[in-house]
Amino acid sequence: MSLLLGEADRERLWRATIAAVERYIRGVAEGPASPELNPAKMREMAAAFDFAAPRDPVEMVEWVAANLSRHQVHPPHPRYFGLYNPAPATMGIAGDALAAAFNPNLAAWSHSPLGVELENHLLRAFGGKFGYSAEETAGSFCSGGAEANHTALAVALASRFPDFAERGARGLAGEPVFYASAECHHSFLKAAGASGIGRGALRAIPVDDGLRMIPEALAAAIREDRAAGRLPFLAIATAGTTNAGVIDPLGAVAAVARAEGLWFHVDAAWGGAAAFSGKLRPLLAGIALADSITFDAHKWMSVPMGAGVYLTRHRSGLDAAFGTPTAYMPKEAAGLAVDDLHLLSMQWSRRFIGLKVFLSLAAAGWPGYEAAVDHMTAMGELLRESLRGAGWAIHNETPLPVVCFSGHGDPGEIARRVVASGEAWISSTVLGGRTRALRACITNYRTTAEDVGALVGTLDKYVQGD
Ligand SMILES: *Cc1c(COP(=O)(O)O)cnc(C)c1O
Repeated sequence: MSLLLGEADRERLWRATIAAVERYIRGVAEGPASPELNPAKMREMAAAFDFAAPRDPVEMVEWVAANLSRHQVHPPHPRYFGLYNPAPATMGIAGDALAAAFNPNLAAWSHSPLGVELENHLLRAFGGKFGYSAEETAGSFCSGGAEANHTALAVALASRFPDFAERGARGLAGEPVFYASAECHHSFLKAAGASGIGRGALRAIPVDDGLRMIPEALAAAIREDRAAGRLPFLAIATAGTTNAGVIDPLGAVAAVARAEGLWFHVDAAWGGAAAFSGKLRPLLAGIALADSITFDAHKWMSVPMGAGVYLTRHRSGLDAAFGTPTAYMPKEAAGLAVDDLHLLSMQWSRRFIGLKVFLSLAAAGWPGYEAAVDHMTAMGELLRESLRGAGWAIHNETPLPVVCFSGHGDPGEIARRVVASGEAWISSTVLGGRTRALRACITNYRTTAEDVGALVGTLDKYVQGD
């Protein structure tokens, strides 16, 4: 059988695929939100394929759809109160399929002129939402927030230490160190390890009772490191922590970074979408001062994974970190004033990540996104109030739709029972290194007041007997 498949087989395949997608969208709420966890059974299902003979394409698609319906946590389920994974916008699903079918490689401008310019246009549109001017906005689409944060570290290093891209940490006169709150995302640790400065280069700055970074502690840590001969180069603020949706004092952190001559990065992987809402945008005041920003379209913007965005107002930093020309890349656009993306990002061959973002945004428009963000925020508020009414203690202060709470028993055990029931998906975590709590996030634009009420009822069921 050819890889292309015959015309008749393709016809059957598309129909079956579309039917499976539509069946899932319509039916996901009827099933459990989470799967049974049985490694032996999963391995046995996988091992049944020895690939020795071809299988019927339609049967295979139906096998996958039927079994994914059973064997995964379902972010598209309206009772998935999880870790920032979205119900995908339908236009994003179409966009990802089209990106796969046309399969342009965005590494070189000449290979996908429209694709590259649509992405550049989107970068400027997001930059505008965060207060960057169109002329200064540069950046790249990434696999996700972790890659965007890794990019941020690489660009900050290459900008602050002109020799870094060439000679690495061994070219420095001292130990480079950077700063983020104790509640920051752990991707910065990985990035520090991978970039050769070591995980120990990340200084965890203490947070206040509201889990926000303490700017005075940041300033003190920088002074202490300088006095010891180390080289502070980057301060990171989080706009919407992964744990608790808390926004660091962006303006105050920016002021410390500026006074100390540090690069200022804002990790707004999830919380950045607050900029789409007129009501919430003031919460991000100060983000425009950032030298660079991480934003994940595959979180609160509800684009299918993976779609991260790295933005910077210093194009020269991207050149310094990633400018590695080669002889073998396409040259047709050499005389044009355009950018080859492989010279501006960590990736080389580059999927058209921005297409699903473009189609989602074009179809909904900013008003559609404002409505979605405001709806999810209202559902978060309802959840917070309902939990309070049911006697739970709320531990995080944020207007964004993440609620961390406890009472009525051990958070880990309650989360385990809820997830095992399949009625909803929630998690547990530890806040500020000491407070164990349940965590529920409104991360699905299809979640309604009825779903919120159902979660509170489910919780009630699984604490009984404690
Ligand atoms: C999710 C998240 C990340 C990591 O992003 P991925 O898309 O999972 O790679 C980084 N920072 C914050 C604040 C996040 O919430």
